[in-house]
Amino acid sequence: MNRHSNNINTALIKLHNVAFSYAGRHAACDLNFSVYDGDYLAIVGGNGSGKSTLIKGLAGLLAPSTGEIEICNSLRRKDIGYLPQQSAAQADFPASVMEVVLSGCLNNGGFRPFYSSLDKHKANNWLLQLGISHLSKKSFRELSGGQQQRVLLARALCSASKLILMDEPIAGLDPHAQAEFYHLCATLPLTIVMVSHDLTSALSQATHILHLDTHQLFFGTVLEYQASGIGDGFMGCTHPHGHDASEHKNKPKYQSKGEVESISKNITKSITKCSQSKIMIEDISKSGISKNGEHNA
Ligand code: ADP
Ligand code: MG
Repeated sequence: MNRHSNNINTALIKLHNVAFSYAGRHAACDLNFSVYDGDYLAIVGGNGSGKSTLIKGLAGLLAPSTGEIEICNSLRRKDIGYLPQQSAAQADFPASVMEVVLSGCLNNGGFRPFYSSLDKHKANNWLLQLGISHLSKKSFRELSGGQQQRVLLARALCSASKLILMDEPIAGLDPHAQAEFYHLCATLPLTIVMVSHDLTSALSQATHILHLDTHQLFFGTVLEYQASGIGDGFMGCTHPHGHDASEHKNKPKYQSKGEVESISKNITKSITKCSQSKIMIEDISKSGISKNGEHNA
């Protein structure tokens, strides 16, 4: 995809003074930025700075406590794919790789008792592109962490036709697979919003950077970010709350028991339903925000 950083294209999502809170406490606030068609936005920041919270908000899984998320006219909820941050609970899906990947196609709307040949073609294509075709009949729970991450990425890609939201997608991949993953992202015909702790790659791949520290520390183009010097501090220095970027390597892959249970419940529900009857599931589109930014849940 021919990416640019001058926002000549259509706006897809606009945030107006958005904040997200848990039990009345801000996890991310003062969010004012827009994502345009063709952008590659990298979200960076230390542990606990609100990155996953924001991306869940963009996926429609979390309603803003204040402000508005405007989903612009050209974008529909079903055009958005979401790859959550890896969690311990996700590793234990009782389904085959193909079933997991195909379930991503159910985001594309309409009631369909069976997967279409287009769905199957799409699933096979992403399995091939991600180099995991040979795993399609395997049980998901028996795969390595890196293989599982690719399967979940293939699933998210099946559900995305315009925008893909990814939360630390390279966690668990070996360096070679990480390089391949970035190469793949550069060629995806999609707008990308990716949480990343790899600032070097973010700067070389992305068009825009959003740096969070509970509030919006910076939003702008990669060149503007480099000129601001904010990233210099982030790469080497300790996070003001006592964390730094390198801690991502060792931190648990999930944030709280509640979050793990909720992700597990949602995905198990999806996969159980789709493997039993291939009936349309309630995917993220059903708990999302509507075009005018109101929350449906
Ligand atoms: P990041 O992804 O940048 O590491 P998160 O968005 O996961 O940060 O978390 C931001 C803040 O919100 C942290 O202080 C975290 O403890 C808190 N938080 C995240 N999820 C929940 C939750 N489900 N319930 C309560 N607090 C949460
Ligand atoms: Mg996170």
